[in-house]
Amino acid sequence: MPKAGPRVAVIGAGPVGLEAALYARALGLPVAVYDRGGIADHVRRWGHARLFTPFGLNVTPLGLATLRREKPARDLPADADPVTGREFRDAYLVPLGESEALLESLHLEHAVTHVGRAADGKAFRLLVRAANGRERLDAADLVLDCTGTYGTPNWLGDGGVPAVGEQAARPHVAADLEDVLGERRPHYAGRSVAVVGDGYSAAATVCGLAALAEEHPATWVVWLTRGPRGQPLPRVANDPFRERDRLAARANALATRCDGNLEFHPQTVLDEVVYHGPDGGFRLAGRSNGKPAAWEVERVVAAVGHRPDGGLAAGLRPGDPGYVVLGAKTGGPGFLLRDGFDQVRRAFAAVTGDPRLDLYAKKAA
Ligand SMILES: Cc1cc2nc3c(=O)[nH]c(=O)nc-3n(C[C@H](O)[C@H](O)[C@H](O)COP(=O)(O)OP(=O)(O)OC[C@H]3O[C@@H](n4cnc5c(N)ncnc54)[C@H](O)[C@@H]3O)c2cc1C
Repeated sequence: MPKAGPRVAVIGAGPVGLEAALYARALGLPVAVYDRGGIADHVRRWGHARLFTPFGLNVTPLGLATLRREKPARDLPADADPVTGREFRDAYLVPLGESEALLESLHLEHAVTHVGRAADGKAFRLLVRAANGRERLDAADLVLDCTGTYGTPNWLGDGGVPAVGEQAARPHVAADLEDVLGERRPHYAGRSVAVVGDGYSAAATVCGLAALAEEHPATWVVWLTRGPRGQPLPRVANDPFRERDRLAARANALATRCDGNLEFHPQTVLDEVVYHGPDGGFRLAGRSNGKPAAWEVERVVAAVGHRPDGGLAAGLRPGDPGYVVLGAKTGGPGFLLRDGFDQVRRAFAAVTGDPRLDLYAKKAA
């Protein structure tokens, strides 16, 4: 392990955290990477979904060079290949985490729960909790917060405030991107399902449930969105990611046709989410098109996005220059990994004081 230079703590072993740790190691800096789950745990959770961006846009020259050096026999997808989250994780992220460069730095199943400065204002103190509940304090000189947002779903209620009853109902509401045509099929087949949200996750769920309804005609989808649009998904003009545009077009067609066992309610906000127990389903109530409205359904999928976990660094002064947020936590729903890699490059250019530093330049590979 390198001994000199600022000690870097990377919180989150997702795609961006792994690349940040690799960058630190390539600069000879001591680094510790923490993840409360396994390697790229959030990607694992939506692993059945296909990425919109091809493999080559989700990797870096540094990562590829590491894998080729350490595991030359390993086959990697081609740059233009479409991959699912699972394929991306298995082919690239897990081997990277298990590479010699990173293996000793990884602290899996270790959540960082709080970050603050020591009393002398010098080092950071990180409270780290292992999966068995044991806690310890670690120190670092630079903290890279790469925790993403997927672990903190938004509330269904209007204005980011939980609907009445929603907090009690939460454990029974699906907030992950559900694999409705795969392992979660038995949970949804033949059921009435409310899908709330108007992003690509909602679109993927609605399209999956519509396909399920062709095999299991009792499946019924109630699609609730806040927006006023007659078409729930905005279409990006000349969208460079065809799969994304195809999904938007398919979902919009289902919403506007309102067949295929689906009803679509735009301009809807929820004030109440009540769970009646395993056999009783849910009651959702609120306003739709300005009028009171309510639905009784057996399943609820909250596809209303995710928010950054603001609690992690609550003990720090805002703008502490040693605490840098990278990756999905910095961006909105359209965040792309290639932007995250650029953030990593710029963060280390700032650390070294060399604005031209770029370990992703071709010669690095
Ligand atoms: C369904 C879906 C499809 C997507 N498709 C694309 C695509 O095609 N192209 C694209 O560029 N982007 C896509 N994205 C965006 C995607 O979120 C990001 O590209 C990527 O996952 C962000 O990586 P990250 O490392 O910033 O965060 P994440 O992948 O969210 O990783 C954060 C990690 O931090 C860990 N963590 C969180 N809190 C703590 C804590 N307190 N202590 C320790 N560990 C913690 C988590 O366990 C997780 O492993 C997609 C996202 C989703 C949900």
